[in-house]
Amino acid sequence: MSAKDCIFCGMSAGAVDTDFLYLDHQLMVIRDINPQAPVHLLIIPRRHVVSLAYAAGRTSAILGQVFVVAEEMARREGVTLSGYRLVVNQGPDSGQAIEHLHAHLLGGQTLGPLG
Ligand SMILES: [Zn+2]
Repeated sequence: MSAKDCIFCGMSAGAVDTDFLYLDHQLMVIRDINPQAPVHLLIIPRRHVVSLAYAAGRTSAILGQVFVVAEEMARREGVTLSGYRLVVNQGPDSGQAIEHLHAHLLGGQTLGPLG
């Protein structure tokens, strides 16, 4: 999938009407349209990066910022103390649905064990 056809790139460019919870020059945060928990946010680099496999080098600084903004969003959503999970799906076996790197922040309920 190229950036031209990418829904997240469309949001970043303002071509898709989007309710941003957070937006800066590097990252945007939205609610997942198919939430798997009471709090289910997507933390998304604004630049088109397909996955972690393509994120090394020039975009690696954004990866650290994903964690910083995730914690800020967890605080805003009131789940810092109750706990939350931060997940990055990578490639077909993971179920990565959109080929533009993003992290899921899940919380607001007791989450099951991984795997
Ligand atoms: Zn994209």
